[in-house]
Parts: sequence; structure tokens; C-alpha cells
Amino acid sequence: MKAFFAEEQKRHDPKAFLSSGAPQPNPERPERVERLLAGAKSAGLTIERPREHGLGPVAAVHTPEYLAFLEHIFARWQRIEGASAEVMPNIHPLARTGSYPASAVGQAGYHMADTACPISAETWQSALWSAWSAVEAAETVMAGAPAAYALCRPPGHHAFADVAGGFCFINNSAVAAQVLRKQAARVVILDVDLHHGNGTQGIFYTRSDVLTVSLHADPVRFYPFFWGHADERGEGPGLGYNFNLPLPRKSADAAFLEALEVAFQRIRAFSPDALVVALGLDAFEGDPFGGLSVTTPGFSRIGEAIAKLGLPTVIVQEGGYLCDALGDNLTAFLTGFGGKQR
Ligand SMILES: [Zn+2]
Repeated sequence: MKAFFAEEQKRHDPKAFLSSGAPQPNPERPERVERLLAGAKSAGLTIERPREHGLGPVAAVHTPEYLAFLEHIFARWQRIEGASAEVMPNIHPLARTGSYPASAVGQAGYHMADTACPISAETWQSALWSAWSAVEAAETVMAGAPAAYALCRPPGHHAFADVAGGFCFINNSAVAAQVLRKQAARVVILDVDLHHGNGTQGIFYTRSDVLTVSLHADPVRFYPFFWGHADERGEGPGLGYNFNLPLPRKSADAAFLEALEVAFQRIRAFSPDALVVALGLDAFEGDPFGGLSVTTPGFSRIGEAIAKLGLPTVIVQEGGYLCDALGDNLTAFLTGFGGKQR
């Protein structure tokens, strides 16, 4: 199986982050890339650089207003006297039905859900290359490969059509799914990250051509709090095309695999032509976020179970933070999935 990654994806190096109100080092470190590259290589994958794909595939799932914001906000922010080194919101609209603000501070609040996605000089290019890795993986699968892996960093599944959040700027999984839609009538996105894929859910919430399924720590007391509950089922034509499986905190392999079987029933009933796996590795028992308790062999079993769906598959990297086993967990998933043979 091929893996896609571009060096530019490492340049984004966020510093700021608030956790329960307290300033902490941002956990979405460039070093994650080294661990994940090593993990992909250990599973026998070959790493290739994606081509440039322009704005088209990104603009297919994000608003032009938002993309212009992402590209230019850092330069605008720097012109504000006394502003922070990175773009950080400090005011948000309670509802988004009011006027669109003209100022950089207003727009930061409008387009950024939280303080976990600071924007610096390198953010736009890193996020764009991360999305291009997803596009290249999707095109590889469309050209006939059974599967491909996109080492997407920064990650994407908390980014809505016009909102960044939770370390995410461009929704790489949504971009990949939309590219696959050129050939596939129905695409499913299966999100196994520790956190609910709220941005992905939001992008496809009113659509019936992309089924969104997410397994995650119960958001009742966990990020992203406002989304990820079992009663969020889609809206309008999309009603019944969003499926959330919140899991109790510290759920381990058996509970995760059991929920995965429930997800598979829904996925089979949708009869998809292609699959995007939003692969977060932060459900790991030793991940700094500590929300679930999946083990390293557990990731192998998850990969093995997903492979049995027998669908053309784009694996998109989402979360998974610095801990000794980060690379091993990717190796375990990809090996279980049959990465070397594909
Ligand atoms: Zn996560």
C-alpha cells in the first residue's frame, strides 16, 4: 500500500492551547509525523509525495469565505498592535445568523471553534499539503489500488465547512470522500478517532450520498461536547445518514470491537462503493488524552475487522498524540488491515 506525505505538513508548529482554561503546550506536535512515518514504514508501506492539487478539492467541502480567511488571517493578525504571535479567538457569535464581521478579531471568532487551532505563518500551507495527501490517496484508490494511506497532519475531522477547531483546519477525510464521489455513488466515512468527528458530521449532515459513522468517547463530558450524541442522525435528505456510537470512558478493545460490529451493520445496509477511514490513534490506553483504553493489539484487530468490509479504502490520519507506542499503533492497524499485501 502506498502512503502519502509532504514535508511541508511539518511546518505548522502550534504553540498555544488551553486545557480546562489552563495554558498547556499544544499536543499536535510536528514530531507526531516522525512517529507516524516510522509506523507506516514498519508496516511495509512506501512513502510518496503527493502532487499539488490546487484549491478545487478543498473548495468542494469548504466555503470560499473560510478558505480566504485561512489563507490570509495570519498576515492580517500581525498588523494588529499587541496581538498574540498566533491567531487565537477571544470572542464568538452565540449564533451565526448575524452579520459577517469585517475585522480579523471578529473573523477569528467566527471561523475558529476553540483555542486548540492557533494559526501561524505556516498553517495554511501545511493544511493544504495535508489535504493534498488525502486527495492523492483518494485518486490512487480511484485508479484501482485497493487501499491507500494519507499521513494527514494537521488532522481534519473537527473542521466544519467554515470553522476550524480541535487542531484541525481542512477536513481531509471529507476532502477524500468528495474526491471518491467522482466515481463512487455512495461513500462511507468511518471515524475511529477518540473524539467525535464533528466537522465531518457537519459537512455531510444534510446529505444522503455520504454516510458518516463515528465511534468515540461519550461527549457528555468530553470534547467536542456539543456534538457526537447518539440522537444526532442527520437532517432533511440526510436524516438517517449520520450514525454516532458514543462509548463510555475507558472502554477497551472488546467494547470498541463490539461497537464496530454495530457500525458495520449500518455500513452494509448503506451498500457503499468506497470507504474513508478517519484513523485516530488517540483511543489508545496510553494516549495523553486518556479517553478510551484500546491496546496496540486492539488496533490490529480493528484494522483486520475494517478490511473485511472488502471496500476500496482511503485511510486518513486524524489524531493520536505523542506517546511511546504512537508509531507501533499505526503499524498494528495497517498490518491488521493487510497493508503490506495491498
Ligand atoms: Zn482525536
